[in-house]
Amino acid sequence: MVTCELCNQTGDNLSLREAVHKDLGKKWVCGDCWTSLYDKNSMVSGTTGGGGTFSCPGGCAGCRNA
Ligand SMILES: [Zn+2]
Repeated sequence: MVTCELCNQTGDNLSLREAVHKDLGKKWVCGDCWTSLYDKNSMVSGTTGGGGTFSCPGGCAGCRNA
């Protein structure tokens, strides 16, 4: 059983995705919430998708020496 941290929906078949909300920080959310966060541009970009994208404090995207 997993629970969406935004809408509190629970279920065994819920597949949660990690989203970094601009205000709330890292959250595990259901697909519906993830989509709505994406639509509202409420997520911090570059942190989802599993592409291994990192930003170093100096601002160079993709820097692995951060
Ligand atoms: Zn949800």
